Amino acid sequence: MTVMVQPKALTNYKVRDFRMLIDGAWVETDGGKTLERVAPGHGVVVSRYQAGTRRDAERAIAAARRAFDDGHWPRMTGAERSNILLKAADLIAARAEELAHLDAVEAGKPISQVRGEIAGSVDIWRYAAALARDLHGESYNTLGEGTLGVVLREAIGVVSIITPWNFPFLIVGQKLPFALAAGCTTVVKPSELTSGSTLVLGEILTEAGVPAGVANIVTGTGPEVGAPLTTHPDVDMVSFTGSTGVGRLTMANAAQTLKKVSLELGGKNPQIVFPDANLDEFIDAAVFGGYFNAGECCNAGSRLILHRDVAEEATARIAELSKLVKVGDPLDPSTQVGAIITPQHLQKIAGYVLGAASGGARLAYGGDTVDFGLGQYMAPTILSQVTPEMAVAREEVFGPVLSVLTFETTEEAIQIANSIDYGLSAGVWSRDFDTCLTVGRRMRAGTVWMNTFMDGSPELPFGGYKQSGLGRELGRHAVEDYTETKTLNMHIGARTN
Ligand code: NAD
Repeated sequence: MTVMVQPKALTNYKVRDFRMLIDGAWVETDGGKTLERVAPGHGVVVSRYQAGTRRDAERAIAAARRAFDDGHWPRMTGAERSNILLKAADLIAARAEELAHLDAVEAGKPISQVRGEIAGSVDIWRYAAALARDLHGESYNTLGEGTLGVVLREAIGVVSIITPWNFPFLIVGQKLPFALAAGCTTVVKPSELTSGSTLVLGEILTEAGVPAGVANIVTGTGPEVGAPLTTHPDVDMVSFTGSTGVGRLTMANAAQTLKKVSLELGGKNPQIVFPDANLDEFIDAAVFGGYFNAGECCNAGSRLILHRDVAEEATARIAELSKLVKVGDPLDPSTQVGAIITPQHLQKIAGYVLGAASGGARLAYGGDTVDFGLGQYMAPTILSQVTPEMAVAREEVFGPVLSVLTFETTEEAIQIANSIDYGLSAGVWSRDFDTCLTVGRRMRAGTVWMNTFMDGSPELPFGGYKQSGLGRELGRHAVEDYTETKTLNMHIGARTN
């Protein structure tokens, strides 16, 4: 039986009414409507956001365009922008508990986990601040002393930033500080399910000294607010994180005016386990990698591709460990798996499990939804005897569901791992480093973990191969992504021809 942490009712909870940040002012939508957010873990309304309209999006784009074209922000020195970003990082740290609490109630994430995400975000904001001082080009003496070629990096312009619900504060932090560091101006659209922490970030940026119009935040639905951010001619780049389907639409929209796009999309990430792997370590990582954020994670290591010699033992041990995972109240610090984002999504997850079971997979543990009488939850679940063509093995389930597939030869393992449309991350487990490196280099994935899973740091680029995305975030080139390259080609002294 799963360990349950009964959610406590949110009595006397003060519902937060948010406005939007457009051109330095906190405003209501001109459409006059709001969106209510029901906490997934508690079943009551906790926040109200403005249901922004296309006109609100256009107002924000106009403000960002003006702020870019007046040149104040892009022409500041990197050091000046860096100092503002550092101040923002300090203010995020000072309001960490408030931010963690908001993400926990709005997204149903375990509070202990979100605290880690906010601390990680502070680190990322500081990293972006450091990069702001180090944005530089190149120079070439191409034809001898009489010529000089200078390659400049200039801010690309107005950037639309569109984010999903599963890591509301972390993901905006993988985009916005880097765009600001480059000198861009921005319009941010958070998910309509989890906009609160991004709006608090707006307060923080204003207090840190980000000028009016440089960082606008418009809330609302994707079709109403997100779509104009991807089509408007005054937007120069779209930085999107979300599903592959909406990513594809975003790219098609952006193509109308040939905007640059950066896409961080879905994943269905394999972990290949060889017979010589340290099983203790792997089993821990499999449970963590599969159930972290209730599996609502682009990086979830949900496709376990186990060598036949260890599959049975590993599956049984993961099933045993799954029983000990604490499921329930997002606000209880002991909770490890929180709530599922919406009732509809819970049904979708349960549908995948049922579909797999009726297609011949075996339920090694879990499979049930959990009814606390408040919110919606799912038990950690592990399916064995999954075959590569099953939907549960190919599609993003986005729930706490692990699938076990088996292999005999290394070639077979690599073939199964690479056989789907996604290529975000992957794992290889073996005590033989030759095996790890050989297999790791053949995996078509943006990140390959070896004998670990889901570690990361701001210095390491992150992004996907294939339909998991386009471009990379983080890493030392992260700011360059928000720039254009300009070549200055100069002649020095008298021209001889
Ligand atoms: P989603 O694609 O439904 O929504 C993402 C954002 O796009 C939201 O803000 C939404 O309002 C907006 N949107 C929806 N329709 C739009 C439209 N027509 N035009 C413009 N914007 C529109 O994704 P989601 O359900 O919020 O998030 C889950 C998905 O995000 C999963 O597929 C997950 O793998 C992916 N994700 C990827 C990464 C990564 O780094 N690769 C990280 C986190 C989440």
